[in-house]
Amino acid sequence: MAYSEKSRDIYKSEISGIRDAGIFKEERYIHAPQSADIVVEFPSGAELKKVINMCANNYLGLSSHPEVIKAAHEGLDSRGYGMSSVRFICGTQDIHRQLENKLTKFLGTEDTLLFPSCMDANAGVFEAVLTDKDVMIADRLVHASIVDGMRLCKAMQDTYKHSDMAHLEEKLQEHQDKRFRLIITDGVFSMDGDLAKLDEIVALAEKYDSMVFVDESHSSGFIGKTGRGTHEHCGVLGRIDIITTTLGKALGGASGGCVSGRRELVELCRQRARPYLFSNTVAPVIVAGAIRVLDLISQTTERRDKLEWNTKYWRSALEKAGFDLKEGDSPIVPVMLYNAKLAQDFARDLYAEGIYAVGFFFPVVPKGAARIRTQLSAAHDKSHLDTAIAAFTKVGAKYNILGKGKKEIIEMYGM
Ligand SMILES: *Cc1c(COP(=O)(O)O)cnc(C)c1O
Repeated sequence: MAYSEKSRDIYKSEISGIRDAGIFKEERYIHAPQSADIVVEFPSGAELKKVINMCANNYLGLSSHPEVIKAAHEGLDSRGYGMSSVRFICGTQDIHRQLENKLTKFLGTEDTLLFPSCMDANAGVFEAVLTDKDVMIADRLVHASIVDGMRLCKAMQDTYKHSDMAHLEEKLQEHQDKRFRLIITDGVFSMDGDLAKLDEIVALAEKYDSMVFVDESHSSGFIGKTGRGTHEHCGVLGRIDIITTTLGKALGGASGGCVSGRRELVELCRQRARPYLFSNTVAPVIVAGAIRVLDLISQTTERRDKLEWNTKYWRSALEKAGFDLKEGDSPIVPVMLYNAKLAQDFARDLYAEGIYAVGFFFPVVPKGAARIRTQLSAAHDKSHLDTAIAAFTKVGAKYNILGKGKKEIIEMYGM
């Protein structure tokens, strides 16, 4: 008997270990389309509850937009449900290429290749374009999927301290003997909501003959004046060699990702990237929806402008209420609580007040940096935000943290 009682016991105790460490993750079931107002069920038994969602990546409010749903219906009717094939055998439709061309135009690159997800794009891209003669130099806070992609690649791995340009420069100097250098960063960092210094990174890349990779998953569609991303915000459109991004956040939120950038690099991904070669890509219904998303956001900046307004309003109201926020220019606004248990208790009390936001603590963020990560959406109206601000303020007063900084909160609650 391969899966013996002994094996079961070992695994059971591993799972209890996760519970005991207080890092057990529980799914909540949402009984509604993704939106600002959702109906949530906790599997642990409480009743369904109508809450305001403050933790989705639905930045532009397009996840359930009627135009996107309509386009998806039309795609389903005209191109069917599934492809039953990977892209290079018989899994590419005209609309897949149309979407790639639209992404290329929107991102300001030379070519684009769709992947089943951005996780897959990151898993495939490094191995496809780098060899053991090259070096990858990554910001220490890049997304987990980038870390995994780097592991699959034979190029040498190195890192620089988060957004520390002097340290990056040192690393670039150190690796001048390599064939290629590739600087790797997120555009917007998902836990802190801060932006990469892409203008300085590109300048260093030019000085030290290096390529630049940026994961724009938390930026595509809304960062920059026309929402093209961090490269637009930093004034370096057209100067990023590889961009990866997801369709699973602002761009409709269904699923899918892409590698976009220099023509030859994208072509090598089409020839070699394993998640592209060996896994089905995005289904036609999603492709049709995503095409409509790109058309919508290319026609008007109304949604990203509303998101920007919401972000400023939210930030300044929470600051006025006396919360300790992480600085940043993105719609990711972390409310710092430092202590893991406090973050969990805070999130539970918010939920009781009808606000859905999640506490993050180690190992998702460093020890002693627990927080509630709030995320704004163009789907939020001012009334949603006012309700949420009142709830935050009530719970903040309960825990006596309003007007308190890091030192005082840690004194009261510990790390
Ligand atoms: C969400 C995210 C991904 C993964 O995107 P999927 O398309 O859901 O796989 C990759 N990179 C970053 C930076 C992300 O935030």
